[in-house]
Amino acid sequence: MTRREIEVTDINEIEGMLSRAKFLHLGLVDRGRPYIVPMNYGYEMNEGRLTLYLHSGMKGHKMDLIINNPDCCFELECDVKPFNGVKPCMNGMSYCSVMGRGRAEIIEGYEARKRAMNIFMKTQIGEEYEFSEKMLSAVHLIRVDVDEFTARKRPLPSER
Ligand SMILES: Cc1cc2nc3c(=O)[nH]c(=O)nc-3n(C[C@H](O)[C@H](O)[C@H](O)COP(=O)(O)OP(=O)(O)OC[C@H]3O[C@@H](n4cnc5c(N)ncnc54)[C@H](O)[C@@H]3O)c2cc1C
Repeated sequence: MTRREIEVTDINEIEGMLSRAKFLHLGLVDRGRPYIVPMNYGYEMNEGRLTLYLHSGMKGHKMDLIINNPDCCFELECDVKPFNGVKPCMNGMSYCSVMGRGRAEIIEGYEARKRAMNIFMKTQIGEEYEFSEKMLSAVHLIRVDVDEFTARKRPLPSER
């Protein structure tokens, strides 16, 4: 860890990051090479256990990869603000970020899919919505059970 980064372990502070970031970068395994795709998400934190909920069109490369190998990782960031220092080497960015690893699974069954979509909507727009079976039939809903995650922040120099 660089001297400018601060490890964040307070779960409420990490939840604040998860609720502000709105999209993440999902890393998947593509024939032994990484494939990263930006996606919106919903999250649930239960006694320190983090679960992410994603939605996707039915077809495409990432769905093929998830079906083939559920191992995944993610990174998200929020509060990104560039700042200038007195010297060029002191320019930088403040940020908060969360990174983790887990396993992705396609959610089956109307009730479980509706619940996942509502967690997604709650994170994205702060509200739930009544989804019909027909509306949900157009998308895959994916649950990522996160095995491990870490969070860090780099405050603005004036806030240190
Ligand atoms: C902020 C943000 C939020 C998004 N949220 C979602 C979401 O919640 N759900 C969702 O399904 N998609 C979301 N997308 C779109 C997503 O990033 C992918 O473009 C899309 O899901 C298709 O991915 P795929 O692997 O099925 O690609 P395919 O359509 O199968 O295409 C594969 C090819 O396209 C290229 N490609 C795929 N996506 C991108 C991209 N974003 N930029 C540049 N090249 C690309 C790949 O390199 C690969 O060569 C979001 C994109 C952004 C930028």
